Amino acid sequence: MSDTVICGAGIGGLATALALAKAGFSSLVLEKSDQLGEVGAGIQLAPNAFKALDRLGVAAAVQATAVQIDAIELRDMVSDEALVRFDTGVEFVSAYGFPYAVAHRAHLHEILLNACRLSGRVRIETGCEVVAVENGSSDSEVILRDERRFRADILVGADGINSIIRKFLISGEEPRLAGHTIYRTLIPVEIVPPELRRAQVTLWAGPHAHAVAYPISSGRLINLAITVDDGCYIPARGISVELMAVRSALSDVAGSLATLLSLSEKWLRWTLADRPPTPGWSVGCATLVGDAAHATLQYLAQGAALALEDALVLMEELSKTPNDVSSAMLNYESRRFSRTSSVQILSRAICESVYHATGTAADVRNTALKIMNQEQIRMKTHWLYGSSDDSYAHI
Ligand SMILES: Cc1cc2nc3c(=O)[nH]c(=O)nc-3n(C[C@H](O)[C@H](O)[C@H](O)COP(=O)(O)OP(=O)(O)OC[C@H]3O[C@@H](n4cnc5c(N)ncnc54)[C@H](O)[C@@H]3O)c2cc1C
Repeated sequence: MSDTVICGAGIGGLATALALAKAGFSSLVLEKSDQLGEVGAGIQLAPNAFKALDRLGVAAAVQATAVQIDAIELRDMVSDEALVRFDTGVEFVSAYGFPYAVAHRAHLHEILLNACRLSGRVRIETGCEVVAVENGSSDSEVILRDERRFRADILVGADGINSIIRKFLISGEEPRLAGHTIYRTLIPVEIVPPELRRAQVTLWAGPHAHAVAYPISSGRLINLAITVDDGCYIPARGISVELMAVRSALSDVAGSLATLLSLSEKWLRWTLADRPPTPGWSVGCATLVGDAAHATLQYLAQGAALALEDALVLMEELSKTPNDVSSAMLNYESRRFSRTSSVQILSRAICESVYHATGTAADVRNTALKIMNQEQIRMKTHWLYGSSDDSYAHI
């Protein structure tokens, strides 16, 4: 059996280890942090993410604490007027076979981690920072900061947007900072007015900014995130800020969002980045999954979903040709490239045309959204939530 090394124990790395374990591959996961876990708060899990979680055998565990939502509602941030409401209730679930739900990141990560441990085929080593790769056509060697070396005949870089494995496979180009800042907080549900405790994802689109709120942790917390198009190009990751900083970053806020905003003093700040779609992430016996391969802005709420899908498609290809790993890697990338590129490109576009539109563009957005019916919205999102193309048909 092959020596499989996965670099990174985030959602992508653990999902890959679990998918491979299900197909009989044992793997060693090398994680640079001393502690395993996820930083951040809520995560939206669309039906395509749930389909992948189901194949990984953990959908029921995730659903146990996730909140299944009835609708995604978009409001105007300035007037607080409801523009459009996309129903994700019974009909939606029966159309896709899986729900749209929202979860705490830490819960999702923990469930994947436990499933990896239970599989008996995944060894996870923390405090192992990969600093270099010697990649040959039939095997690779990863080198850690402490100079230890691990040989691999299957190497998967699941090491996120600043992937070191990517540097050795494709290029050392840095991620593309968006000039956007996100502020995130969690609010205990007891202090939230009843009309704002709904089982839905609520989005507010404003000039150069938008907000999103939804319940997580069996409804005990409300996750609130505010993104501002502020031209900040200095990288920041999870920096603590006070409410004042969030207020001064936002110019026009009214109604329900203004109420929610005032309920939390403690916020964390991140700058946002992505990468342009770039082919060539599979080289010899090495490949990339998740953000390492195709980091995307969060505006379609699909980065983790793509990482889960990657894991299963990679597992399928390796199972088909276990003795020809480099072909499996190339086939995996070719099945994934178009879908992941579409998400990268559309995530940027939707931010400009919908979430952060200003002036006349915002008026046009409002008029267009107000006349959309459920069928029209379904047609626009079907490729994402229910696509049956080969990129993930079999997962
Ligand atoms: C604000 C925001 C909101 C989002 N919302 C959603 C959403 O609602 N739904 C959704 O599907 N997606 C969402 N995403 C995207 C999602 O969070 C990511 O796409 C996903 O977490 C990527 O997982 P990953 O495992 O590929 O990378 P990461 O989560 O970055 O994991 C990489 C791991 O590799 C480790 N590592 C890094 N370098 C090394 C090294 N040299 N050696 C060893 N280990 C290393 C890291 O410590 C980390 O554990 C959002 C993203 C953001 C920024």
